[in-house]
Amino acid sequence: MTVTPDHRISPLSLARAEVRKLPVYNAGLSEGAVKERYGISQVTKLGSNENPYGPSPFALDHWKEIASSLFRYPDASAEALREGLSRQTGIDTDRIVIGNGSEQIIRMICEAFLGPGDRLVTVLPSFGLHLIWPQMMGARAEAIPMTPEVRFDLPALYEAVTSAPLKVLMFSNPSNPVGCMMTGDAMQTLINACPEDTLIVIDEAYWEYARSTQDYADSLSILEKQSRPWMVLRTFSKAYGLAGLRVGYALTSDVGLTAVMTRVRDPFNSNGAALEMARLSLLDQDHMLRTVDATLIEGRVLKSALEERGYFVAQSFANFLFFDARESALALAERLLEHGVIVKPWKEKGYESWIRVSIARSEDSHAFLQAFDHVRQPLNSPTV
Ligand SMILES: *Cc1c(COP(=O)(O)O)cnc(C)c1O
Repeated sequence: MTVTPDHRISPLSLARAEVRKLPVYNAGLSEGAVKERYGISQVTKLGSNENPYGPSPFALDHWKEIASSLFRYPDASAEALREGLSRQTGIDTDRIVIGNGSEQIIRMICEAFLGPGDRLVTVLPSFGLHLIWPQMMGARAEAIPMTPEVRFDLPALYEAVTSAPLKVLMFSNPSNPVGCMMTGDAMQTLINACPEDTLIVIDEAYWEYARSTQDYADSLSILEKQSRPWMVLRTFSKAYGLAGLRVGYALTSDVGLTAVMTRVRDPFNSNGAALEMARLSLLDQDHMLRTVDATLIEGRVLKSALEERGYFVAQSFANFLFFDARESALALAERLLEHGVIVKPWKEKGYESWIRVSIARSEDSHAFLQAFDHVRQPLNSPTV
């Protein structure tokens, strides 16, 4: 228990107006918290889209050696990792920015580019931080709803980017939480419609899962032809299984954009262990690709299992499924927790009956389905 002193002045009243209004990011419960709260020993964690196969064994072989140099400050310029990423992406090292997770890069983008009144367009349902960090800066974040089939609503997005001044367009592809993907043609059309001075940010946290899918937008080749500022965000948290270390990166349109980001970056924003583990993990593409394949296969199994039970599941190109539980997602997720299963109930308006569940190993799907069958309300009329 933490004891809060009885302040005469509420600390919140001292905060900036934008901070006072800020929603709190819903990071979900940790495994330990669930065990303690419900007195259970076995927890199935399907709320944060982690890679259950873990980090590269090749990288882990170097872990002790990495740990022994932790008395040093990390390389503030993250040279070695940027070189590795440059080799992989073909983007020059001076167009790569490393973040303490790509979350931090999203925050840096907002701090550097958004002020009160600036307009940002994203999608609904949305990745929480695509709305929270713009709001923190006083920007107006507009979230364009997906279609009823939970796909990108391209006409509505087109309308939104052309209707008023637009500082930043930012969305994830594949989308989190939906999992849907934008095709290259659609992305090209959308980007062409944006004003010249709009910063385009494509968050590709799940790129490794979608990249082999036919028609999935090859954002780099589309954006490289544009004479405008843009960033593509990727991360080591998902397919590379390094969520706990916090490494993400941005590929930027040009050195000038990197320089702006560097102005708002904490000099030692990425820790030394994270930089080195990420660099080694990049060298072990086999491990990453194997876990991605296993995840995609398991995803098909889990999707059918939910569909057989009568649920509508959005088509997903990432390591999670988004489905309409047709009852209060929050209450359902709470009951699942009592059975040791963590999923993410959606809270945004219009999606309060939707659940996002990570795709992990088949034993994890089994544990989820077993608990789900225990606690869900019977469906009257199956959809689809
Ligand atoms: C998971 C996720 C991130 C955060 O990744 P980190 O690198 O762990 O900060 C960013 N964007 C989206 C859309 C995500 O789903």
